Amino acid sequence: MRDDNCIFCKIANGEIPAATLYEDEDFRVILDLGPAAKGHALILPKEHAANLFELPDEIAQKVLPVAKRVGARLFKGLDCDGFNVVQNNGEAAGQTVFHFHVHLIPRHKGDTVKVGWVPGRLTDEDKKEILDLFEE
Ligand code: AMP
Ligand code: ZN
Repeated sequence: MRDDNCIFCKIANGEIPAATLYEDEDFRVILDLGPAAKGHALILPKEHAANLFELPDEIAQKVLPVAKRVGARLFKGLDCDGFNVVQNNGEAAGQTVFHFHVHLIPRHKGDTVKVGWVPGRLTDEDKKEILDLFEE
């Protein structure tokens, strides 16, 4: 399914030009226009899904192999020291374009890219509450 109002649908399907690093029948990988770092790329499925939870399993299982393949070329080509694979779901998690996408972010020692959080502490109460969610 395509969403006519979705910019990433248009880019993924070639209606709007973008710097394409890789393309196959399911995905287009493009350079991010507001990169966190040089080489920051986005994996876009050609089918519209707003987020991970809408993404069909058939497409979801193909995402990491694409991340690995394109990521490895960026890693080598840009002589990276590290690499982040990031995927945001929902405004609260930083999602701004509501068409599923995966960020590939090349990293170098001492760079100023911020991808992270301040670690908290797993309390017994939280642990029980969450484990209970997974009880059959
Ligand atoms: P997110 O915050 O996870 O939804 O990420 C959206 C990303 O899409 C941001 O990093 C933007 O810089 C990027 N972006 C938005 N519009 C475009 C566009 N037309 N072409 C390339 N990247 C875009
Ligand atoms: Zn879309």
